[in-house]
Amino acid sequence: MVNTYQELNKAGVNDQAAKHKKRELDLRMDCLINADQCTGLMCRRKVFDVCFDNEVADFDHLDCNPECILGCSCCLILQPMVCCDIHHPDHFSIYADEPSVMSHHSCLSKYTKKVPDLVLQDALDDWHEQKTISTYSWSHLNDLGPSLVLPNCMLDRIVNCAHHHKINSIFDLKKETGWMDSDRFGNEIITLIQRHAPPIASPFVTTPLSYPSTGNVPVLATPCPTARTNTPNLKHRNKCGACNNEGHNGKFQVLKFP
Ligand SMILES: [Zn+2]
Ligand SMILES: [Zn+2]
Ligand SMILES: [Zn+2]
Repeated sequence: MVNTYQELNKAGVNDQAAKHKKRELDLRMDCLINADQCTGLMCRRKVFDVCFDNEVADFDHLDCNPECILGCSCCLILQPMVCCDIHHPDHFSIYADEPSVMSHHSCLSKYTKKVPDLVLQDALDDWHEQKTISTYSWSHLNDLGPSLVLPNCMLDRIVNCAHHHKINSIFDLKKETGWMDSDRFGNEIITLIQRHAPPIASPFVTTPLSYPSTGNVPVLATPCPTARTNTPNLKHRNKCGACNNEGHNGKFQVLKFP
């Protein structure tokens, strides 16, 4: 009994040690990541020579083609025109843009999903399934799932951001999710958000603007035509935070046809 306990305890300690060790970065990976901070390195390629014995690797271009005095032209390793991001930063700047866009995303407060949030989630679920079929094929949807077009974590992020009214444009979408296909499909996502997102709850007490009852109610922004014609079974209707009327939310007006 005591032995068992001690063994368990020992195993636990080893487990913790292993976990701790895992958290320490491998020295060679540290050199690779921080090559620009080490005066002895100052080149990403040099790390492979110093830490991974790249320099001592045998050339085999002479063995590949012994007929030619210069060896095989395919296997001959030439000095590259572009070395690394430390030596040629201009060549790598295009890769640095995406993470910086994502780093400016909003921090969202916790909330409980209500009907409008779930309606938007359902709409996005349907959308990314249909989009996977139309962009790839039904078999891709079956084999790989709808995350092929839009990963589930990003879909959740969109729902949460829409709840807090953080996504009003493709730029917002890209900023908040880091989704690579924002430019390609963003318009469709924005349309779904405008159609289904919960109304803005105004923290201010405002005096509603009064319009003449017979006059035209100004329409500040209209959703795209499909947004109006394709929503016959929509149970939820937006309620305006400013005037308390249904059918619009202060930003978007559902048009009524005679
Ligand atoms: Zn270099
Ligand atoms: Zn060869
Ligand atoms: Zn209103």
